[in-house]
Amino acid sequence: MTSISRIQNIKGTHDLLPGDTVKWQFVEKKIHKFLHLHGYAEIRTPAFEASDLFIRGIGDDTDVVSKEMFRWTDLGGNDLTLKPELTAPVVRAFIQHQLGRKSAVNRLYYLDSLFRRERPQKGRQRQFNQFGIEAFGSPHPEMDAEVISIAYNFYKEFVIKDLCLNINSIGSPDIRKPYLDTLKSALSSVTDELCKTCNYRLDKNALRIFDCKNPSCQKILDDQAPFISDFLAEDDQNQFYSVLSLLDSLGIPYTHDKKLVRGLDYYTHTTFEITSSALGSQDALCGGGRYNKLVEQLGGGSVPAIGFAAGMERLLIALENIDIENNPDIYLVLLGERVLQQGSKLAQLLRMDAGFSVVIETARRGMKAQMKEANRKKVKWALLLGENELDAGSVQIKDMASGKQENVPFEMIISYLKDNPG
Ligand code: AMP
Repeated sequence: MTSISRIQNIKGTHDLLPGDTVKWQFVEKKIHKFLHLHGYAEIRTPAFEASDLFIRGIGDDTDVVSKEMFRWTDLGGNDLTLKPELTAPVVRAFIQHQLGRKSAVNRLYYLDSLFRRERPQKGRQRQFNQFGIEAFGSPHPEMDAEVISIAYNFYKEFVIKDLCLNINSIGSPDIRKPYLDTLKSALSSVTDELCKTCNYRLDKNALRIFDCKNPSCQKILDDQAPFISDFLAEDDQNQFYSVLSLLDSLGIPYTHDKKLVRGLDYYTHTTFEITSSALGSQDALCGGGRYNKLVEQLGGGSVPAIGFAAGMERLLIALENIDIENNPDIYLVLLGERVLQQGSKLAQLLRMDAGFSVVIETARRGMKAQMKEANRKKVKWALLLGENELDAGSVQIKDMASGKQENVPFEMIISYLKDNPG
């Protein structure tokens, strides 16, 4: 006999099984509620976009664009990409639908899947999910403080251990060139001691050299590299210190990390990241910053903006030990073919008229197997309907926690359940 090979999910993707999805739904509900609380409205953009959006938005020399995009040409010759990040699509939609005309400040949030061809490991997948916010229209420090405090307070609500907010400013794009020239010349004598990736970055996208995890490269950078935040123009410096002082007044602790530059080209001014030791080596929960030029760069007007993106999988790893259940209220045990019609009617009534979550037996098993199922589903009550009950116009209601069982006439079932909430 030939065996049929089984198809598996693709490397770097994951199935979320029912035990996982209850946790995801719990977190997703919190996200919607928390962001609504702060006046943010949800935006949803398509799963794929023109590749050019990401090339122009994120930058050719970033890892995301140069190595990680799932990109293809469709049969019509269109160059398309599964979205590898969400800021560029949201900016595209903001411009396309002229959202800036409707309101001086637009506060948007998303909760979505994205795709990057990275090396999979714990907390790093090829399809993953992020929630995030983008606030368009205000260049002022209070906007930065609002966005950063939303991210920080969100994680604080979940009591995630060792939360650490790192913040920096990379100033306006005008200082980028003189700074990078100084950085390159400061490191020119030590390029042999830096790793291959650092040398590549120094050539292509020098700011990213600070993202290197290699301790010996980090030591060289600490000793020899100038930091961009020491090159800020006076206005940018004042802006940064105003953000810090607003965070102080909100009681939000932070560390000024002069090496925090973030990987994407569009960032300007404030950059930040929140980490937790609960995560292991991939310790970033979320990252964000200002991107005052991106709207213009993608063909919109001059609109300052700031946002963050937060990894859902990382949050769920940090919450690994929370115990969340979402069990049905009732298992409807049916015994005998004659009760099937009345059983279906009863289930519909309990759901639609009384709002109970009901699972009904459809496998026609014996009493023991059905009660086992009711136990496994951790329902509050098992309702037993057999032919004797049908003839008597009643059901047996068993409270699964106490084991108490009572015979209840059909017309009294809902009031009985409501009066005896278990
Ligand atoms: P980024 O869009 O790279 O700024 O990432 C923002 C957040 O998304 C990170 O702080 C992580 O929490 C999460 N993240 C980024 N890349 C991945 C990935 N490949 N798998 C899972 N989560 C990720």
